Amino acid sequence: MHVVATAGHVDHGKSTLVQRLTGMWPDRLAEEQRRGLTIDLGFAWTEIDGRQFAFVDVPGHERFVANMLAGVGPVPAVMFVVAATEGWMPQSDEHLAAIAALGVRDVMVVISKDDLADPAAAIAQVRERLPDAPIVRGSDLDAVRAELVALVDRLPAPDGDADVRLWVDRSFTVRGAGTVVTGTLAAGTIRVGDELEHDGRRVTVRGLQSLERDRDSVAAVARVAVNLRGIDRQHIGRGDTVRTPGAWLDTAEIDVALRNPGELHRQLVLHIGSAAVPVHVRPLGPAAARLRLTRPLPLRVGDIGLLRDPGEHRIAAGTEVLDVRPPPLRRRGAARERAQELATGRARPPVCARAEELRAMGFPVSGQRVGDWVVDPNWWARRRERLASALTEWSAAHDIAAGMPLETARQALGLPATELVVELLSGTGLEVVDGRIRRPGASLPPRVDKAIQTVEEWLAAEPFRAPEADELAELKLGAKELAAAVRVGRLTRIADGIVLGPNACERAAEVLRTLPQPFTVAEAKRALDTTRRVAVPLLEELDRRRITRRADNGTRTVVG
Ligand code: GDP
Ligand code: MG
Repeated sequence: MHVVATAGHVDHGKSTLVQRLTGMWPDRLAEEQRRGLTIDLGFAWTEIDGRQFAFVDVPGHERFVANMLAGVGPVPAVMFVVAATEGWMPQSDEHLAAIAALGVRDVMVVISKDDLADPAAAIAQVRERLPDAPIVRGSDLDAVRAELVALVDRLPAPDGDADVRLWVDRSFTVRGAGTVVTGTLAAGTIRVGDELEHDGRRVTVRGLQSLERDRDSVAAVARVAVNLRGIDRQHIGRGDTVRTPGAWLDTAEIDVALRNPGELHRQLVLHIGSAAVPVHVRPLGPAAARLRLTRPLPLRVGDIGLLRDPGEHRIAAGTEVLDVRPPPLRRRGAARERAQELATGRARPPVCARAEELRAMGFPVSGQRVGDWVVDPNWWARRRERLASALTEWSAAHDIAAGMPLETARQALGLPATELVVELLSGTGLEVVDGRIRRPGASLPPRVDKAIQTVEEWLAAEPFRAPEADELAELKLGAKELAAAVRVGRLTRIADGIVLGPNACERAAEVLRTLPQPFTVAEAKRALDTTRRVAVPLLEELDRRRITRRADNGTRTVVG
């Protein structure tokens, strides 16, 4: 089906032309209300040369913009009517401005009432304003039909597999059926039984109609009436959407490119889909702006809309969404940089996002795939370098080879998920064991591992009671075994034959910090609940690490 909007000054014969083409009078509100579901609102349709046409007849200026966007979709085909009797009129101008703002290039012009007046003057006026548009005389209905076919054949083919986002233009209740919403399906397919989402809730498609007929499924582009289960009529209306669950992101802040911008006030109304939402406008250079919406909408990059000044009844600019999660502009110079970026007509996609998120934002899902994620290759390469230096730094500041926790690495790299740290490690020769990044071979032979576990249990109970020589001997932990355990980060070596847990120094510092400063060896020994054999070398180790400082009189102060 092809959906075509009419445009033109009041009384120039738009509705009459639609009636002559379809045999249906398009202004049928009363009849529609009487018959409810069976009539597809305000639309008239017919078949021409094997193609199904639905016409959105546009009543007056107030509703023109909203109807055009809601009823026809983002890139409407327009049949522009100019009467030979009056020629180009003020409302012709306004409609043309709307069409230009929306970036509509495919417009055909019909000169109506050419049976009443010579069309030459009107044709000349149209030529001036729409030099490339085909012009046909209303009296020649075959020529009008031929031009309509040519017009829709130029339109891009709709994507029947796309995610569904039906902008609701009407909702009503039908006795026995419940809530019905109508709209123009611009892309995708709706089937009876589908689960869709409205306002965070699931609704089920109970029935479908298009052009007065029941259907099992309706594919874009089409006018469609959807009978929904799971929602009251009062909770859904014009400007709302029903959509593929999980496929869309609601956003209240967008960056847009401006088309044909006029004077931009700070407060305007954004018309997009069937929605009309007041927005705050912050210009970013001459041809772009940041819009803060008073109500979030499910928008994607590439969506077309326009800004209107309701006070002045004026179209302020056309808009094309460039970003739906724009970066904050708090940093000095950020707004200028952003304006420069947007002046290219594109916003950079996020450097790192889940593929489904990119898709929901409307960015192309291209770039480097890393699991479920898509990353910017340069940014990713820099993350890998940074990981190497973060590991070095961490190892210097901590007991060797205990293994840097993944979460610490994630934070240091500014990554959104630890799974990405794991991906970054592939090819580096490092491995992840128990949530820690370690050098490979960092595991111990089972016999040693078991003995070390026993030591770990002792140290868990008494962290500063280093095992005695005879205890170590009984566990068959000689110098070689202890060195291996230290290497993999299970133990810390304090002195020959004296080992403690991996974070012994940090934990000792915590305890000693609670003492009155400076403190003596005896005081430290008591606080740490240990012996002189351990306390003396432990304090010396703390001195070396600049955690404590020793005064000439032998007392110490915690400094690090
Ligand atoms: P709209 O406001 O643009 O929808 O205009 P209408 O279709 O309602 O037409 C306004 C008036 O002009 C009606 O009385 C029509 O009968 C008349 N009209 C429309 N088109 C023609 C035409 O081509 N020739 C003549 N003679 N009258 C027309
Ligand atoms: Mg009319």
